[in-house]
Amino acid sequence: MTTVGRAVAATLLLATLTACDATAAGPTPTSEPTVGSRSSYVPGDPTASPTVSEPQTTSARPDPTPTRSTTPTPAPTATRTPTPVTRPVIVIDPGHSGRSIRSRTTNGLLDFDYPNQPEMTEVFDISSCVADGLRADGYRVILTKRRASDSVSLTERAEIANRAKADLAISVHDDHGQGPAFQATYSQRGVSSNGHYPTMYRGTGARRTVFDQPKVAKASDRAAKIIARERAAAQGRPVGVRQNSFDGRAPLEPGNLALVELLADVPWVYNEMGALTGGSTTKRLSLAAETGYAKGLLDGVEAAVPIPGRSGSTSAADIRSCLTARR
Ligand SMILES: [Zn+2]
Repeated sequence: MTTVGRAVAATLLLATLTACDATAAGPTPTSEPTVGSRSSYVPGDPTASPTVSEPQTTSARPDPTPTRSTTPTPAPTATRTPTPVTRPVIVIDPGHSGRSIRSRTTNGLLDFDYPNQPEMTEVFDISSCVADGLRADGYRVILTKRRASDSVSLTERAEIANRAKADLAISVHDDHGQGPAFQATYSQRGVSSNGHYPTMYRGTGARRTVFDQPKVAKASDRAAKIIARERAAAQGRPVGVRQNSFDGRAPLEPGNLALVELLADVPWVYNEMGALTGGSTTKRLSLAAETGYAKGLLDGVEAAVPIPGRSGSTSAADIRSCLTARR
């Protein structure tokens, strides 16, 4: 909860806010009429969403035409039939931009981001090491930034995942305004109350934009729960599936969904980790804390989007080595 962030003016927020775009759960949103919507996308079942099949190498195959004959059928000769390799596409979105961004989405929403250290370097390193591990385990991985200092708008980040038709995208943030007890995932479906899921949206009036892709939202919800479970196991502390509130956090648009998730056509899970270290908002996370977060993200992605017949082999030690080399 960014109590601080809610209290300060926009300019002060820029200078002092250590919390991320997405932080703690807030009040249930009020129902407003839908003005903008993102209904152009007609997804297939995201749980069976597009995976990239590598072309099979052609090799000598027996003529498949069956023949009926009274002569004994010869024993089949061994043929090397390659197993199709499916490589799910994962987009990893390390939080924040090297320069401040103030642009507008096509619906006129404010696309707002800012450099945030030490978070920006931490989550870039964590994302890079998760990417290395996933690639080693057979996934195609695209990062939304090439360097920690890159400036990429939230619109561009969503478009990267949309163009790639990602099976799953994850945003990786941490929050130096929050202690380590704060651990969360956020889906595009929100948190149900009495079995009813809320309308997910950002903005007011003519700019109000609703996320109205039920199948994507459902896949996001499923993945958010799996990633929370795997993060809890790797980090050794509870991780909750939460719902955000951006109300009263100007200049951020009000609403309950991170902008990058709103703009996506693919299942997306936004991650936060309390990073306040020894009471300092500037001290870098410990290697152990980064390793736990990264391993939980890796295991969560692999559990949410498994590769049939294959289990990942990237270990916590592998992740730790990667993170050590980057520090
Ligand atoms: Zn952040």
